[in-house]
Amino acid sequence: MRSLLFIAVMLLAGVIQAAERDYKLKPQQVAENTYVLIGHDEHFSFTNGGNIVNTGFIVTEAGVVVIDSGPSRLYGEQLKAAIARVTDKPVVKLFITHMHPDHFLGNQAFEDLPIAALEKTQDGIRLMGETFNDNLYRLVGSWMKGTRVVAPNLQVEPGLEEIGGHRLQLIALQGHTGADLAILDQTTGVLFAGDLVFYGRTPTTPHAHLDEWQSALEQLRKLDFKVMVPGHGAPVTNEVAISQTSAYLSWLQQYLTEQADSGAAMAELLQPDVPQNLRELAVFNDEYTRSLSHLYPALEAAALADGKVEQQQ
Ligand SMILES: [Zn+2]
Repeated sequence: MRSLLFIAVMLLAGVIQAAERDYKLKPQQVAENTYVLIGHDEHFSFTNGGNIVNTGFIVTEAGVVVIDSGPSRLYGEQLKAAIARVTDKPVVKLFITHMHPDHFLGNQAFEDLPIAALEKTQDGIRLMGETFNDNLYRLVGSWMKGTRVVAPNLQVEPGLEEIGGHRLQLIALQGHTGADLAILDQTTGVLFAGDLVFYGRTPTTPHAHLDEWQSALEQLRKLDFKVMVPGHGAPVTNEVAISQTSAYLSWLQQYLTEQADSGAAMAELLQPDVPQNLRELAVFNDEYTRSLSHLYPALEAAALADGKVEQQQ
C-alpha cells in the first residue's frame, strides 16, 4: 500500500514537473507580420529553463521565416506552436544569428527545413555545440531533455534575399562571436541584431573581440531601421540599445586595460569602478566577473609584453 502511494506521489510529481515545463511563449507584434518572443533578463536557471533570449519570426506570403530557435528542443517545439497560434502558414526557413547555445539549441524542431547561418557559425556549432548542450543541461536541467545539436544545414550568403514579399538584407558582421548575422527586413524596417546588441542587460563576452564588435555596432547604426530587436532585452525604435551596448564595451575595455597597465591583480577588480547607468544593467555583477576572467589574462600579458608592468616575482 505504501509503495503504491509512493508511486502515485512520484507520478503526480512527474505530472506537475512536466506541466511546469512551459516557456509560456507569447509572440509580441513589433511591425506588420513581424513578431518577437522576449526572454528574461536573467542568467540560465532551472526557473527560466534557459529562456533568456529573444527569438522572432516574419509571416511572409511564402511562409514563416524564423530568427533563432531558442535554448532547447522544448523551446523550439513551443516556438513552433506559438507561431501556429498566429498563422496557419508553415515555417519555411530558419536563420541562426550566431553560435551561442541559447540561439540554436531549438533547431531540432525545424530540422527538416533550411537552417541558415554564416559559415563560421556552422563551423562553431559543429565544433562546440555538444559542449554548449552539456553545459546548458547542467544549468537548466530537465528543460533540456532530449535536446541534441542540429547544425545549420545551409550557408548564408550575405546580401539581399526576397522571401514572400519581404526583402531581407543579410549582413555578415563579427565581434560578439567570430560570425554574427544581422537581418534587416527592408520591407518593414525591422532589424534583428542578434547578440551584437543587448538592451537593459549586460552583454556577454566569452567569444568577443571588442574592437570588431564596436565597428559592427557602427555599421548597424548606419542602417535605416524602424525597430531594433536586440538578442537580449526589449525591442526599441531608435539607437539607444546600440549606444548602451557600445558604452558598456568601451567602459569594459578601457577599465580593464588601465588596470592591467597599472599592474592590478584580477582579484583586486571584483568591485569595479563603474558608472551607475552601467552598473544598473541586469546581471551586471555576474557578467562583468565572467568578462574579467576571460579578458583580463590577455590584457595582463599585453601590458607585460609592452613593458608597462614588470614581471611579478
Ligand atoms: Zn550570444
